[in-house]
Amino acid sequence: MKIGFIGLGIMGKPMARNLLKDGHSLVVYDVVPAMVDAMAGAGMERGESCADVARRSQLVITMLPDGPEVEQAILGPGGVLEGVQADCTVVDMSSISPMVSQKVGRACAAKGVAFLDAPVSGGEPKAIDGTLAIMVGGEKDVFEKMVPILRLMGSTVTLTGGVGAGNVTKLANQIMVACNIAAMGEALELARSCGVDSEVVFNAVKAGLAGSTVLNAKAPMVIARNFKPGFRIRLHKKDLRNALLTAESKGVVLPLTSVVQQMLTALVNHGKGDLDHSAIVTYIEDMSSIWSAAT
Ligand code: NAD
Repeated sequence: MKIGFIGLGIMGKPMARNLLKDGHSLVVYDVVPAMVDAMAGAGMERGESCADVARRSQLVITMLPDGPEVEQAILGPGGVLEGVQADCTVVDMSSISPMVSQKVGRACAAKGVAFLDAPVSGGEPKAIDGTLAIMVGGEKDVFEKMVPILRLMGSTVTLTGGVGAGNVTKLANQIMVACNIAAMGEALELARSCGVDSEVVFNAVKAGLAGSTVLNAKAPMVIARNFKPGFRIRLHKKDLRNALLTAESKGVVLPLTSVVQQMLTALVNHGKGDLDHSAIVTYIEDMSSIWSAAT
């Protein structure tokens, strides 16, 4: 299949490579030319714009930061819908507001183009291994047609409902991950302040009820003080903002999410937006040192 891939960042790059490995031919585009330079060649053609990618593809996949970029790339001038053929399918794998997914889905439907929202969980390591968890929203027949392609990037591919449901599921995922990391930060800081080493705590609890995929992935980074992203703090802030806006539209309260979103905002304001989200723990560490200095 001729696949167009738009957005060649931390996630998009390895995901596109996994499609290529299966023998598909790709046409790729990113708003940053250096990203395209790094990928073009060896089976990947250079796209000149989102519209150009769409013109040359049977399937267009987007992997972009947030809703505004997805709207620009698909609906905007020079966007996918300007070049797309009627039998094309568009799959947006970015983590965005479900309300934006639905808006984009409606615009695609008006052009006779099938659309799925299919955000992912698992981060860069699983993007490289092709073992992401992919949560999909859309029509069942479109989903079934796309499953073989999505399976090249993910080990689980789940239809969660109509268009937008994939991103609702992803927001639920992001709430759980962020609150888990914040709780881990509080736990390790308490232990440290009592003279108990973080690595000892991690090894002691990981097989018990507090053990989790988040703990196994993020505690070693905290212990090694390695905050290279991974998943950037500014992207997680964006996800929790989208969760809070969605919650507000439904009249739902998310008190823990609000607190962690404020921590993420403070970290971005302190220049830590491009660190891995495991650096949420540094908010708690820094606040603790301020409190202990004041007493
Ligand atoms: P990234 O910032 O590394 O990559 C995004 C890419 O999109 C960049 O290369 C950027 O230049 C490009 N871009 C932005 N606007 C564009 C436009 N209008 N047209 C074309 N290209 C454009 O981000 P990422 O970490 O790869 O994340 C992508 C999405 O996946 C986000 O929604 C993120 O929340 C989600 N996600 C990320 C991870 C992770 O661990 N990094 C995990 C799961 C989900």
